[in-house]
Amino acid sequence: MDTPIIHTCQRCGACCRWEGDVCVTNEDITAIAAYLEMTEEDFIEQYCRLQRNRKGLSIIDAEDGACIMLTENGCRIQAVKPQQCRDFPYKWNFPGWENRCPGAGKTSYTPGE
Ligand code: SF4
Ligand code: SF4
Repeated sequence: MDTPIIHTCQRCGACCRWEGDVCVTNEDITAIAAYLEMTEEDFIEQYCRLQRNRKGLSIIDAEDGACIMLTENGCRIQAVKPQQCRDFPYKWNFPGWENRCPGAGKTSYTPGE
């Protein structure tokens, strides 16, 4: 059996600075474009690029390499963020994520409370 993932998000944004793809599904594109009050075509043109494996679309990076949706107040599209982001780290993660995520191995459960 796989070791269960223990994690409590510290809201640091480090996972949004990972250099891999921020994949968006068709459903993500529909939801994010509506949230940003853009057409899907404009959202794709302005904020998406091909995934590195060319099998779908990814949100583009800002100049500093972070996801372009990352702001100093967190994710600009938090309410409708891509499924991949919602799944992190339990249902989707990347090799070595535990070394980048300060929430890895942390639990909000305190024995005795
Ligand atoms: S790197 Fe981990 S702790 Fe930081 S925002 Fe992402 S999930 Fe949360
Ligand atoms: S869409 Fe939001 S949660 Fe996902 S990587 Fe970009 S900033 Fe982070």
